[in-house]
Amino acid sequence: MVQGVGFRPFIYRTAKLHNLAGLVQNRSDGVRVEVEGPAHRIEAFLSNVLENPPPLARISSVTSGEIACRGEVDFSIIESDALTQADVHISPDIATCGECVKELFDPGDRRYRYPFINCTNCGPRLTIISDVPYDRSRTSMSRFPLCSLCRKEYENPLDRRFHAEPNACPECGPRLQLLQSDGSELPGGDPVTEAVRLLREGMVVAVKGIGGFHLAVNAANGDAVERLRIKKNREEKPFALMVRDIESAGRIALLDDEEKKLLQSPERPILLVRKKPGAVISPAVSPGLTTFGIMLPYTPLHHLLLNKGCEVLVMTSANEIDEPICIGNNEAVKRLSSIADYFLVHNRDILVRCDDSVAVSVMNAPYFFRRSRGYAPAPLLLHRSYPAVLALGAHLKATVCVLRDSHAFLSPHIGDLSTPQARDFLHETVTLMRRIAASEPGVVACDLHPDYYSTRAAFDMEGVELLRVQHHHAHVVSCMADNGITGRVIGLAMDGTGYGEDGTVWGGEFLIADECAFTRAGHIHTFILPGGEAAIREPWRVAMALLREHCGDEAQALASKLALIPDGVDIEFFNEIMRKKVLCPATSSMGRIFDAAAAVLGFRSVVNFEAQAAMEMEAAAESGECGHALSHEVMKGNGAYQLHLAPLIAALAHDRLEGVRIPDLARAFHRTIAEALADVAGRIRIDTGLDRAVLSGGCFQNRILLRDTVECLRKNKFKVFYHRRVPANDGGIALGQAVSAGARKL
Ligand code: ZN
Ligand code: ZN
Ligand code: FE
Repeated sequence: MVQGVGFRPFIYRTAKLHNLAGLVQNRSDGVRVEVEGPAHRIEAFLSNVLENPPPLARISSVTSGEIACRGEVDFSIIESDALTQADVHISPDIATCGECVKELFDPGDRRYRYPFINCTNCGPRLTIISDVPYDRSRTSMSRFPLCSLCRKEYENPLDRRFHAEPNACPECGPRLQLLQSDGSELPGGDPVTEAVRLLREGMVVAVKGIGGFHLAVNAANGDAVERLRIKKNREEKPFALMVRDIESAGRIALLDDEEKKLLQSPERPILLVRKKPGAVISPAVSPGLTTFGIMLPYTPLHHLLLNKGCEVLVMTSANEIDEPICIGNNEAVKRLSSIADYFLVHNRDILVRCDDSVAVSVMNAPYFFRRSRGYAPAPLLLHRSYPAVLALGAHLKATVCVLRDSHAFLSPHIGDLSTPQARDFLHETVTLMRRIAASEPGVVACDLHPDYYSTRAAFDMEGVELLRVQHHHAHVVSCMADNGITGRVIGLAMDGTGYGEDGTVWGGEFLIADECAFTRAGHIHTFILPGGEAAIREPWRVAMALLREHCGDEAQALASKLALIPDGVDIEFFNEIMRKKVLCPATSSMGRIFDAAAAVLGFRSVVNFEAQAAMEMEAAAESGECGHALSHEVMKGNGAYQLHLAPLIAALAHDRLEGVRIPDLARAFHRTIAEALADVAGRIRIDTGLDRAVLSGGCFQNRILLRDTVECLRKNKFKVFYHRRVPANDGGIALGQAVSAGARKL
């Protein structure tokens, strides 16, 4: 990545530094540099380029050779040669760089406390574009003509702001405004100073950021956080926090070096980290969990708000539940006036929505739950070229992907496609990603699920060839593409739900797969979901089904001893449903197994959001000891291995009643699942000779499960692949669909 990142001015400066003549030029295959001068200076120049490239540049290879001297005396940046639109990638939005932060707080600088300071190395990119190629006239900065000082910087190759498209200053650039909840301007002083005061007083302030609005509130103020939680109707989902700096982060969280590095990276994801005991943060921020999601300031406005204000702010994306993040000033006031007391807005429009990315550090590397701001739309480099494909992804955590040559352009997070707003956002994103990838693929990939909005949208597209990719196959292929591997593998796809080839709900799948096709070599032995959808919100139902499967009529007595069934449930009716098998879809879902285990261990019989109980069980397992793995059984039936986990759920119930510590049982449960997965994979290896295991699906967001499974598989001499760049959850489905469809068209 050497275009749009200040690479040519960097070459220019470096050549000048070493007193070399020549030229630099962007080309479709990279950057070409010609330098003329004594050999030792050329060598020094080259090592300088390789050792110290601009922060956002990525050099994949350098080739050099001698050409005849031209007798040049100056060094020049010359116009691009035959550069196609497709070759100039749109950069992701990048956090304010160190140099800009320094200027921001320097009273002598002309941009002192200017909330829109940026340079070639930092600032908004994707979120301000209206079209490609990237140029100020096609961004929301087009309405701010550069003043003479800014223009000088913009035109000077030696300046850090040479061709920084969003370049601005207090003279010529965007401005802040502080609005009251009715949309009228709050009279009085400096908007930042006022907003800081209001936040200190416990007010909810909607803050316009890079890719959308956040709702901000003082994280140390319990009443304020509670108030936001009630107003936002966010049940118990954790809120993200923004902390002043890395020292502040260290005061509220336990951080290792990798975590510190990720928090301070230019991409600035929300990082899930362990809470530090005694941190002065309202418990209402992430109830029931031992982790926080925290991030550092990534815009000048964030720096200004946190520098002298609250040390930690709740910064949750501003939307009604499951709706896309809010971006327009009027839209924000309209949609959020019942939630926010004040609005800190500005007149630089956000043209592309982009939610914060969410990651965690696992085994000393970043592991993504959501790949969005800071990362998208930078293309993922694949190990080979494919025909062009547009993939429309899944239904929850939706993203779309355009495949062109060896690049996969995976979109920012779109979210849950249940609302009309999110559906519009899907279509906008498809248009955007086609432009960014400069491709109008004639092949469109989608899921098998007939009710996914993305599937229906694919069917509605005219003049394209439609290829459907089974959900768990897409998970496995996404992880293969993520790791740059091809050929046949043993794929372990463990998630909540996905539409199976037989029309039933799959979710605990062992696939023998390559990019094009798969066979279902094994799966979790199917069990029933009494009440269908209701069983997702009420895990006790799944627990009852599994207990009954293993213990028969004894299940009822077990359930009452465990206080498994919530008050007010008509148990006769429930039993009737189970006996008659009405409203009882069959599933092989690993997610539901985790729910059932968490219910039996007393975490929750009813959840407010998917995987809530399982997340609490994972948190408890962190402090548990694993005495021994519990039982699982593997049998062969219908040509596939059947992993029976009802005995495991029953064993948890019995051990809990015998007084074994809950954290220890939670720990043993994870270990048992990992060993069971390795057991089934081992049998498939004996049958096939395959020794590569590929782990994907939302259940692998569980870090204990991930680590244990990797360990068990490696102990059995497997080569193990897990996600590196894209999420294991449905956010990665579009990539898997795209690569699978592309491979079929090779
Ligand atoms: Zn900068
Ligand atoms: Zn200016
Ligand atoms: Fe999935």
